[in-house]
Amino acid sequence: MQELRELELCNEEVLAAINKVPRHFFLDSTFEQFAYTNKAFPIASGQTISQPQTVAQQTQLLLCKSGDKVLEIGTGSGYQCAVLCELGMKVHSIERQKELFDLTAPFLIKLGYSPDLYYGDGYKGKEVYAPYQGIIVTCGAPKVPEALLKQLAIGGRLVIPIGDGESQRMITYDRLGENEYSMKDHGFAAFVPMLEAKAR
Ligand code: SAH
Repeated sequence: MQELRELELCNEEVLAAINKVPRHFFLDSTFEQFAYTNKAFPIASGQTISQPQTVAQQTQLLLCKSGDKVLEIGTGSGYQCAVLCELGMKVHSIERQKELFDLTAPFLIKLGYSPDLYYGDGYKGKEVYAPYQGIIVTCGAPKVPEALLKQLAIGGRLVIPIGDGESQRMITYDRLGENEYSMKDHGFAAFVPMLEAKAR
């Protein structure tokens, strides 16, 4: 997408991966004609497919490369997940809403992607496969989940929008040592909220 190139949010490798993913398949057919515009759209269960600009920014911030094991929180439409797969990452992704999980899991396989997908609670992460080189949260968290910080590899990075309600700050946590993290604020973000475990 030329618009993304002009925004200079990400490198050519990330742009190439975004360009490879057929975004029109991820949208409801009503919005198909807008699939390659820089906009977010509604998907099932009252959720949204992230704006390409947001996907570009988060993917870039993750600082992961081909072969790295990464964990995504909020599979949603599977679009961000597909971009990470295109970059050769070993993707594990968790979705909290059964309806979306049931739609997206077979759909991504049909498109030829093979991430490991789970129906579960992103606040807990996925400890059995930890540590992860990168963890990317695609919903707005009220605060950073401790479990995700613990499941990060030393040298790894967590990218997470933090804030209450519809607006957050895009924050990264770098794990420098066993109990040492550095945090950085990358500016404004707007994601659907991260849901609590109870509301199944
Ligand atoms: N990455 C997605 C973005 C979807 S919107 C895409 O590219 O389309 C955010 C998603 O996070 C929604 O699907 C929502 O159901 C999910 N979500 C919200 N709270 C969650 C939680 N606690 N654990 C896992 N997923 C969650």
